Amino acid sequence: MRVDFNVPLDKRTGVISDDRRIRATLPTIQWLVKGGAKVILMSHLGRPNGQVVEQLGMRPIGIRLGELLGCPVMFVEDCVGEVAEAAVAALAPGEVLLLENLRFHPEEEANDPLFAKRLASLGDLYVDDAFGTAHRAHASTEGVAHFLPSCAGFLMAKEVDYLSKALENPTKPFLAITGGAKVSDKLKLLGNLMEKVDLMLIGGGMAYTFLKAQGLEIGTSICEGGLLEEARQILAAAKDKGVELLLPVDLVVASRLEHGSPYETVTVERIPVEMGGVDIGPQTRALFADRIRQAKTVVWNGPVGVFEIPPFDAGTRSVAEALAGSDATTIVGGGDTAAAVEKFGLAERMSHVSTGGGASLEFLEGRALPGVEILRGEPGAA
Ligand code: AMP
Repeated sequence: MRVDFNVPLDKRTGVISDDRRIRATLPTIQWLVKGGAKVILMSHLGRPNGQVVEQLGMRPIGIRLGELLGCPVMFVEDCVGEVAEAAVAALAPGEVLLLENLRFHPEEEANDPLFAKRLASLGDLYVDDAFGTAHRAHASTEGVAHFLPSCAGFLMAKEVDYLSKALENPTKPFLAITGGAKVSDKLKLLGNLMEKVDLMLIGGGMAYTFLKAQGLEIGTSICEGGLLEEARQILAAAKDKGVELLLPVDLVVASRLEHGSPYETVTVERIPVEMGGVDIGPQTRALFADRIRQAKTVVWNGPVGVFEIPPFDAGTRSVAEALAGSDATTIVGGGDTAAAVEKFGLAERMSHVSTGGGASLEFLEGRALPGVEILRGEPGAA
């Protein structure tokens, strides 16, 4: 079973700082254990680049998994070869074994067929629950499926169900909220969502390129000067398609992007030259909350302010609260947006919080994910 246990670790202590991805795979693991399967788990952690990096070993992850499962999780120091084979041979039905970091071998990211075959030889069936890595065609996310009968785990199925239903058959009105630092990272996303949604709210760092494209002075706010024409085209496309696209009407601006920096609230027409936007203002929060109340499906990708630095998290918190209070289907993209919702303690009140940052972004861009596509094919087709 491929899982995505690529969890954030505290830089100083190495302690797991957020175990959401581990918890998200419990239903599939527990179901397999209950059915008497010998469960072999494989994952990557961090970016060891094909070398053994001690700090990126999976053993502590196995310990946390064991605590969450309430049963011991065996661990083996390699993911292929004799030690792995011996550990698998020693497994009894209903036992769980975690293999060492897949990316200690360069063949993993190279999707080397021989390596995939060696991984496949450990089991009889391949279950893929690693949505967070499904946008990568690696040996454990794609290659293995050529050698074994394969299927999606419950998490993978849930992720794909929520995201595809939103894109293909959303209950209307369908609203997208986009934010985050850069427009350049989100151009494809905006293009694809524009074809699907009734309403789009733009906040965060990316909003300033749009405001500048409309001729406003944006002070020291983050801006991609080379994308002003693209921004104008997106605004024009929204008009053409009858999509209501809302930008912030007021902002919180600060002298510096750091804790304790002086800040004030201004309308978008009055951004001081020496200050930069760090959050949406109170009028925009009310405006966005009103539109969220009207929506029946909401997809949210990207924080609307610098949520890592309070009080510049207030706008992102207000969006999260509006979503939590809504009876719409609410889908939160992974990465920073998921971290924000988790930080506010509101994750449980969303319909779905994705465990994949890059994967959910690519899915919402309309791209096929190799780790998903391979599961749709013929089982075990080599
Ligand atoms: P992304 O990974 O593209 O979704 O970007 C997330 C990052 O965007 C977070 O780290 C936020 O702090 C950052 N961000 C949001 N709003 C702003 C802003 N107004 N200025 C600079 N960075 C921002």
